[in-house]
Amino acid sequence: MHIVCPSCAAMYDVPDRQMKVGRKVRCAGCQNQWVPVIASLDIAEVEAEEAVPAAAHGEMASLPGMTAMDRLAAHQVVPKRNMVLLAAWAGSGVAVMLLVLAAYGWRADLMSAWPPSVRLYAALGLVGGH
Ligand SMILES: [Zn+2]
Repeated sequence: MHIVCPSCAAMYDVPDRQMKVGRKVRCAGCQNQWVPVIASLDIAEVEAEEAVPAAAHGEMASLPGMTAMDRLAAHQVVPKRNMVLLAAWAGSGVAVMLLVLAAYGWRADLMSAWPPSVRLYAALGLVGGH
């Protein structure tokens, strides 16, 4: 099995039959002596698996923050929709303005091409000289 020196992190590959529970080993690098975890390896794995739900509980505890973020995101959606609506209205308003400006700028051409429009322009007071 692999054991790791807790002092200098040196790794050793020791045959299992040489390892005994509670037996001290000494690091060849730093002379540190410690009792490696051997037979309790399975227990350590079980503890690690039991630690997963605890971590999940920690994530559950952070969920209110997530929902707060979701709420913030939801709040951001509404102004965006209003902005799109405003942009659509502004765009159509600009389009109408351009149409009016074009009708005003090209009124002579329009009146010659479509004589009834003269009355419309006259009603609007845009025809001078009459
Ligand atoms: Zn060591």
